[in-house]
Amino acid sequence: MKYISTRNDKVEFEFKDVFLKGLADDGGLYVPRSLIKYNSYELSELKNLNYNELSVEIISLFTGDFISKDDLISLVKKSYSTFREKEVIKISEIGKLKLLELFHGPTLAFKDIAMQLIGNLYEYYLNKNDQKINIVVATSGDTGAAAIDAIKGKSDLNIFVLHPNNRISSVQRKLMTTVHDKNVFNIAIEGNFDDCQKIVKSMFSDLEFSKSINMSGVNSINWARIIAQSVYYFYTYFKLNTDKAISFSVPTGNFGDVFAGYLAKQMGLPIDKLIVATNENDILHRAISTGDYISKEVKETLSPSMDIQLASNFERLIYYINDLDTLKTADIMKKINQNSYLIDKSNLDIIQKDFLSESCNEQETLDIIKKIYEQNNLILDPHTAVGVGAANKLSLNNCIVLSTAHACKFPDATNISINKHEKLPEALECVLDKEESFKVLKNDTEEVKNFIKSKV
Ligand SMILES: *Cc1c(COP(=O)(O)O)cnc(C)c1O
Repeated sequence: MKYISTRNDKVEFEFKDVFLKGLADDGGLYVPRSLIKYNSYELSELKNLNYNELSVEIISLFTGDFISKDDLISLVKKSYSTFREKEVIKISEIGKLKLLELFHGPTLAFKDIAMQLIGNLYEYYLNKNDQKINIVVATSGDTGAAAIDAIKGKSDLNIFVLHPNNRISSVQRKLMTTVHDKNVFNIAIEGNFDDCQKIVKSMFSDLEFSKSINMSGVNSINWARIIAQSVYYFYTYFKLNTDKAISFSVPTGNFGDVFAGYLAKQMGLPIDKLIVATNENDILHRAISTGDYISKEVKETLSPSMDIQLASNFERLIYYINDLDTLKTADIMKKINQNSYLIDKSNLDIIQKDFLSESCNEQETLDIIKKIYEQNNLILDPHTAVGVGAANKLSLNNCIVLSTAHACKFPDATNISINKHEKLPEALECVLDKEESFKVLKNDTEEVKNFIKSKV
């Protein structure tokens, strides 16, 4: 399979480039030149595979000769052996709603599912190639922890994680800052998540710098994450054993997870609607319901992993709804960067064929947590609560909500709502008492560059 940038279809890339670089040199995101589409017979052939087998089938479509199927089989097995659920994910029911529990990995959020695999893909690549790689990643809390767990202790790899200082939960922070392996560096930026993302983006576009440290990224724009995440959409559909199309409600920040669902649909999976569920940072809800893609100040909410205004992966959707036209995509991205993009009617119609959206404010989120606790004796994390709230507002049939994090990661929200917090799984309790280490830096790209240079 060949890849191109969403902003230029003249140059082709291999999976290796896409995986190691994350972002194309022209600022665009990598997409496959063309997609494989399963017919219903081919889908039925996948139906009875277990999670690992299904992962191998789907991921191997995209990896070309980067990795042989046999090697991928053992790599997938190794990646998911760290999960507390044998089948990686779990489908549960709360009343009429179904939940897709994605948080049974080592750092308690769905991001482990892609990241464990990515860590092992790096190791696989470096075992065959004599190189050193520095991974730099911005996090709103969960990506960083998942990436650190996946990379810690691996040779020839360093990881630098930028998180917004004082704006993530203490459990989120401790899952990162209590890891003391020599190749792990935590940086707290005096700013918000968008600031962290901007610093990482500008370091990537400074080619002299990024090449000099052999910089690589694992943010949610990384295509390998998207394909690993599309697997659970397939798996869920097969497990629900239905002949009707199903809908998913997806708590959304950077549009990565929900884009993985869109990818599954493009590949032929019978998905009806993908619900983009946002908190008060509702730019995607405004965009999808009315075409208004004007960003505002980021608000801090109880669901911090979704406190994002500009969703990086939205660029991929823009590319697909504009008939794979890279010039048009580049043009629209210019408008977005000037904060002057309104989605036109014809594009909006196309988006609304596949997507619905809703937003839940803080009070609604708290109310959902309370209601579910009272009715079902289950504590939801606030991100999942937003997904449930959005699904309730839209009341679709056959809808399943992605449960993106374990409630213990976000005790603030549940303490306010029901005066209770979920305990950490036993194996992780020790994290709470361990010593932390991280470096606080100004919201300034040069300062971050200098810090990184001093460590590599
Ligand atoms: C990252 C994250 C999200 C948002 O996912 P995107 O792929 O950025 O849209 C939602 N919930 C939780 C718990 C997360 O960690």
